[in-house]
Amino acid sequence: MLEQIKQIKHNFEQQFKEVKTLSEIQVLKKEYLGKDSPLITILKSMRDADEQTKQEIGKQANLLLVEIANQLNELGETLNNEILNEQLKGERIDVSLPGMNLKFGSKHPLNLVIDEISQIFTEIGFEMVDGTEVEQDEFNFQKLNLPKDHPARDMQDTFYLDEESVLRTHCTNMTSRLLTKLANQRTDNQNLAAISYGNVYRRDDDDATHSHQFMQIDGFAVGEKISFANLKWVLRHMVKRLFNEKVNIRLRPSFFPFTEPSVEVDISCFKCAGVGCGLCKSSGWIEILGAGMINQQVMELNGLDPNKVTGLAFGIGIERIAMLKFGINNIRLFYENNVEFLTQFPFYGK
Ligand SMILES: [Zn+2]
Repeated sequence: MLEQIKQIKHNFEQQFKEVKTLSEIQVLKKEYLGKDSPLITILKSMRDADEQTKQEIGKQANLLLVEIANQLNELGETLNNEILNEQLKGERIDVSLPGMNLKFGSKHPLNLVIDEISQIFTEIGFEMVDGTEVEQDEFNFQKLNLPKDHPARDMQDTFYLDEESVLRTHCTNMTSRLLTKLANQRTDNQNLAAISYGNVYRRDDDDATHSHQFMQIDGFAVGEKISFANLKWVLRHMVKRLFNEKVNIRLRPSFFPFTEPSVEVDISCFKCAGVGCGLCKSSGWIEILGAGMINQQVMELNGLDPNKVTGLAFGIGIERIAMLKFGINNIRLFYENNVEFLTQFPFYGK
């Protein structure tokens, strides 16, 4: 059997010299290390052999097996490296080739407006809150002085999900939630200023200026000495920052169930400085938002004492601001995800 092992070794060495490819290595592995190979057959037969034979023959067979395996593996590695080097030689980097442009996204115009309003108001101490779009009738209507049979509910055609829940018709739902939270706080501090923003929904036919889903920003401030003068200052500050320093505001009496008194706010046309142009329909003024002092009823409905705290409130359509700022005349452009339209807006704010 020792002779046989020597012969196997000799045969392997002869064949090994000729190996040039990875597949030839696989063939040799099968021939010399496979389960039917002569070496394995010898090793299997050692099971029944006596100790001395195991020592002499078994050991030699085993040593040869390990040697063959090592040689084949080493050669395999060398061949693999050679193949890799060949590939890399063919893949040299050509630094003279022109570069590729990376495409950046741009910020949606509505987000640009939200960012700007958020900046303006956080600077003067308002909190920014998001809020739920599926709202209870209680917070969307009842606590805002719109009981179930109130005729003013017709002003806001509503999507009802069931008897008690709606898709919010305005971000004022968060005013109600925050006022209630303030009332339930165990501290005497009843000062709070917040801006809520997001999607609101109304049953409306979509056209160039209307959409059944749009975005609103709703702001309020409550405290012991909040007055109508504060409201005017806040509104004037906002529009001057949003448009330009020269823009002024004009208030007209109006009606909203949650504010008393209520006003419609116009701004002097930032395009023609009040002289009259197409944008302001020659009037010199542009209607922009609704505002007022928080109705005493609303304070009570949310658990606050109207003799102790007063509040200002205002609501703005984000699309309306974006249309004016960017000169857009169709509200649907905001929702159509037309890349040509969207890439007109700068990525880093204005
Ligand atoms: Zn004008």
